[in-house]
Amino acid sequence: MHRCPLCRATLNGAETCRRCRAELGTAQRAERDGQALADAAMHCLALGDADAAKQLLRRAVVLHAAPETLALRQIVASSLRQFSDAEAGEPRDA
Ligand SMILES: [Zn+2]
Repeated sequence: MHRCPLCRATLNGAETCRRCRAELGTAQRAERDGQALADAAMHCLALGDADAAKQLLRRAVVLHAAPETLALRQIVASSLRQFSDAEAGEPRDA
């Protein structure tokens, strides 16, 4: 979090906004935790576990809906849907 979400002042790493005095420590921790979950999801994707990545991204978005996390969640959901559709379209062994 680079700017205060209330007054847009630059934070420079501070947990309290110098302009409006808002306490932002909890929001900053939620943002960091959300980013850590998104990073873990990327790791799962690198290992080929898209289902685990989807679960981690769901939790990440609850904590902090960063645009890049939302985009990644959409990509993972879309690829899982395509994989599921492809499996459903495959002929079954008799
Ligand atoms: Zn502020």
